[in-house]
Amino acid sequence: MASLSPTELLTRYFGYDTFRGPQLEIIERVLSNQHALVIMPTGMGKSLCYQIPALALEQSPAPDPDPDRPGITLVLSPLIALMKDQVDALQDRGIKATFINSSLRRNERETRYAAIADGRYSIVYVTPERFRKPEFLDILARRHVRLLAVDEAHCISEWGHDFRPDYTRLAELREIMGNPTTIALTATATPEVQQDIVRQLGLAPDDIQLFHEGIDRPNLDLKVLDVWDGEEKLDAMQTIINRWITPESTGSGIVYFVLIRTLEEFSELLRKADVPHVCYHGDLDRRSRKAIQDDFMSGHNRLVLATNAFGMGVDKSDIRFVIHADVPGSMESYYQEIGRAGRDGQPSECVLLYDQRDLNTQMEFLRWSNPDADFYQRVYDHLKNNAEQIRAFGIDWLRARLCDRQRHDRRVETALAMLQRHGVIEDEIDLANVSVLAPLPESLADEQLRAEKLLRDQKKLYALVQYVQAEGDRKQFLNQYFGIGGRDVAADEDVG
Ligand code: ADP
Ligand code: MG
Repeated sequence: MASLSPTELLTRYFGYDTFRGPQLEIIERVLSNQHALVIMPTGMGKSLCYQIPALALEQSPAPDPDPDRPGITLVLSPLIALMKDQVDALQDRGIKATFINSSLRRNERETRYAAIADGRYSIVYVTPERFRKPEFLDILARRHVRLLAVDEAHCISEWGHDFRPDYTRLAELREIMGNPTTIALTATATPEVQQDIVRQLGLAPDDIQLFHEGIDRPNLDLKVLDVWDGEEKLDAMQTIINRWITPESTGSGIVYFVLIRTLEEFSELLRKADVPHVCYHGDLDRRSRKAIQDDFMSGHNRLVLATNAFGMGVDKSDIRFVIHADVPGSMESYYQEIGRAGRDGQPSECVLLYDQRDLNTQMEFLRWSNPDADFYQRVYDHLKNNAEQIRAFGIDWLRARLCDRQRHDRRVETALAMLQRHGVIEDEIDLANVSVLAPLPESLADEQLRAEKLLRDQKKLYALVQYVQAEGDRKQFLNQYFGIGGRDVAADEDVG
């Protein structure tokens, strides 16, 4: 078969006629073996930027023909919850894709390992944690990674909003793979984070081209409304809800809250006012969460009150409004959350309800999400020395030993999550058979590093306050924050 061009592959496998925005340029860059950093709003089509090259590479012989080491495109993604859907969609299109992550049973994992080693897949999705497993590295050594795609690349950076420690091993991992052509993709990265991504990949700024699509979504109307108390907040909320959710319309909306407690208060008030809605937050069990999300996606429930736990995989085209009932923690998360509105290009409204006093909640929240080094040490010591009690009595036992009776002190949760991410304890949330697998990482035990992290998070919150107070065009503020126009990744700025 004659090899197909990128556009022919697009039509053949995806049924689309034309590339969007810079997709083709990015694909050509990657196919000429040069690295790319792609910043593009969610929903614009980042995946095709590595899927089409993967298909093109599949049909072209490797530069070093080695029949025992067939080519492969490796996609690193932290989103276990989405991997299966992504891979299913590719398989439905006749693309040889698969994924490996901790959700697979051992048997299934081993079958897939064997199939990958055999060269039966050309696109493989994995979490970065997978590289901790020697079996995986063995399999990889039998394949030639011709393209490495790092999705959600902002997770590389501790300056980013969803740091994943395993992403910081990327330079080393790239070396293990023979420094393959690399494409990193994300929807949000400030100039600092962009530089950090490049550095963590082990590349020089000149080695990698930045494709920055801007973050302007012309159909989104961004507003900030000052409110002085809960009553005003509720009124404002209801006005917006009533504007968009009517018997004649079909669209839906999200109201984001920072705390579950506040979410429940407002849910009660809306219920009394006969406003139909559902609630989504991290304290619900997995099954309820899935049911609620499915009902929302299908349009059966049109209004959801949610914490930031709601969002991954929420790709619904007709979300007409996103209300923030509290101040979110950073511009990054704010941008990501409002980005769910108006994917169909129709007018949509994003309203931040600003009550100054909510900043206190957020400040407190930052402290809870940034335990100090001493706290990490104490959690670690308990895990080491009192594992039996923890297995028996769970997180409450730990909390009683480590925290004052503050209402929503979440430091234990944060610390456990970080210890999981660093591989100190197993990934499972269940403490019933917890055991310590590794020493406490230096970065968590270092008082100064912890203090710096807190300060960075506080600065992020401060940026949000500046956004609230900004006069004039809010989109311009967003663009400036994310470094569009003027600064670029090659700019040699001091980070920090
Ligand atoms: P992102 O990763 O940037 O959030 P995705 O890669 O998941 O976005 O793509 C979002 C949607 O856009 C998908 O349904 C995809 O099929 C569609 N899409 C991507 N590129 C094109 C294109 N060139 N033409 C039409 N639809 C596209
Ligand atoms: Mg994506």
